[in-house]
Amino acid sequence: MKCAIRLTKNICDIAVISDDGDFAFAGCFFLPESYAEFLPLLCQEISKADPSGHIHTIGVSLAANFSPASGQIDCPAFPLLHGQRLKADLQAALNRKILIANPAQMLANYAYRKREYSNAHQIFSLYLDDEVLSGQMVHGKLLFGANGLAGNWGHIALPWPVDFELEARECGCGRSGCLGAFVSRAALTQEYHLLTEKTVAAEEIFSQSAKGDIIAESAVQIFEDRLARGLAMVINLCDPDIILLSGRMSHYDRLLVNIPRKWPGYIAGRIPETRLIAPFPSEEDVKKACLFGAAMLAE
Ligand SMILES: [Zn+2]
Repeated sequence: MKCAIRLTKNICDIAVISDDGDFAFAGCFFLPESYAEFLPLLCQEISKADPSGHIHTIGVSLAANFSPASGQIDCPAFPLLHGQRLKADLQAALNRKILIANPAQMLANYAYRKREYSNAHQIFSLYLDDEVLSGQMVHGKLLFGANGLAGNWGHIALPWPVDFELEARECGCGRSGCLGAFVSRAALTQEYHLLTEKTVAAEEIFSQSAKGDIIAESAVQIFEDRLARGLAMVINLCDPDIILLSGRMSHYDRLLVNIPRKWPGYIAGRIPETRLIAPFPSEEDVKKACLFGAAMLAE
């Protein structure tokens, strides 16, 4: 039996997964307002999930940037956890070993171990949602790096910018022009607002573009071009076999066609063989795969 927790901005999911890969327990609760309330609630749910206390390690999927060593969260947009030393606090509260990784890392872990991608030497995984989170896996091993920053793609500047493109794109890190500030859900809304002065959710912009709205299509094309440039840089640097997209900004088949078409313009020498995949087409798929990936991290 393995135990996994998935923390997103509103909900905490908890699962116990049997050795056969079935859900032996699945529960969730809405996150409370304060961190002091959160820890006892989580302890309560973990005792329901594992009443005998036989599970010694828990994998936690966390949709935020954090230090893998201390577990300190760096995510102002997630005020409940921002600045908290989640790993140490969970270990003390639950009396179990805690392993934390972000959803991009958990999904790469799941894809490598459970799906048809186990022959990939290197996977670059990108979670595009409210947060832009990423991870790198080499020969089935997640890289964390000396500073916990391996594959921290969201805080690299958008490559090959046109004039003034990097300006007025504030990122949570305090700089302007980071990739995360161009390809998140909010970034597409911002782009559309620049064109129309209307505030529209990213999903609606994709939907309008599919119905033939020229302005929405233009915003989506700008998003695709920036994502393609950012991923071309990954191929130039790491040359992964697979780039795995996930999160609500990845649920569109057009990305898998349009983005690789743009790569040859940014990659010297040849058409890359890197495969762009988005194997988790719904939020439910992402949730299950994150929990499995987290449980497998705890193996
Ligand atoms: Zn940044």
